[in-house]
Amino acid sequence: MTNTSSSSNPSVLGALAGRNAVVTGSTSGIGLGIARALAAAGAAVTLNGFGEPAEISGLLADLAEQTGVAVRYSGADMRRPEQIAAMIAEAEMALGPVDILVNNAGIQHVAPIESFPLDRWDDIIAINLNAPFHAIRAVFGGMKARGWGRIINTGSAHALVASPFKSAYVAAKHGLMGLTKVVALEGAEQGVTCNTLCPGYVWTPLVEQQIADQCKVHNKSRDEVIRDILLAPQPTRRFVTVEEVGALAVFLASDAARSITGTSLSVDGGWVAR
Ligand code: NAD
Repeated sequence: MTNTSSSSNPSVLGALAGRNAVVTGSTSGIGLGIARALAAAGAAVTLNGFGEPAEISGLLADLAEQTGVAVRYSGADMRRPEQIAAMIAEAEMALGPVDILVNNAGIQHVAPIESFPLDRWDDIIAINLNAPFHAIRAVFGGMKARGWGRIINTGSAHALVASPFKSAYVAAKHGLMGLTKVVALEGAEQGVTCNTLCPGYVWTPLVEQQIADQCKVHNKSRDEVIRDILLAPQPTRRFVTVEEVGALAVFLASDAARSITGTSLSVDGGWVAR
């Protein structure tokens, strides 16, 4: 699905004009917020993720109309390495070399270790950790050869600290932070940066879906879970917004951020300051 219609919206003359971005897991939540922000700053964007075809077509049309940039979609399943490689190859064929890769697709499952479902462990590691490796592997050689690249991973406060009942998620996000450092070192002399954004709780479908699980494992009501579990570690006591994360992604993708690499950037209302 490709929509390359342009408009005279002046926002296309932004900091990222002429750049080509792929954002995984961008049919909703944080990924969509990042995709919107990159497009508003002028980058062409390939969206990825699951959803109803009609809703995804609507997203593409809205984004193209609002920003004037080329917008397309890949339905690649981030559990499948061959589909990830094809997503990158198709993005390059359609819109040119990928300059900005945002590894954002992620899922969550909340359960005690002794009853943690094995298929959930495998899927969380596949989507949250293995997929970024496969996507980076597909773009990295080209970025290094061209002397410019931005790899932005969506980590989490859980890339830096742990919470109970999130074994797979915390393991995957800590692993992603390790991968970030290696990629940063390997790309440092060729102008390719790699960083991990670490949001606290952002109100998205992923958080909405885990409330029921949290109610079960903590034996609390929905309101108690939001107050005592979700927002308790976040000193600001408010959810982070997708726009706040998107703005940071735009900065990291800009030339001004060329010396920021191999690090985590927290957008967590003070969570890891404790
Ligand atoms: P979300 O559920 O709103 O969005 C997840 C996106 O990933 C969707 O587009 C979905 O279709 C896609 N996706 C899921 N499985 C996929 C697969 N197999 N292949 C391709 N795409 C797939 O979730 P979100 O809250 O926006 O989370 C996005 C990222 O942010 C995740 O990596 C998550 O761990 C991270 N994060 C979220 C929060 C939060 O509070 N919401 C906090 C910190 C980090």
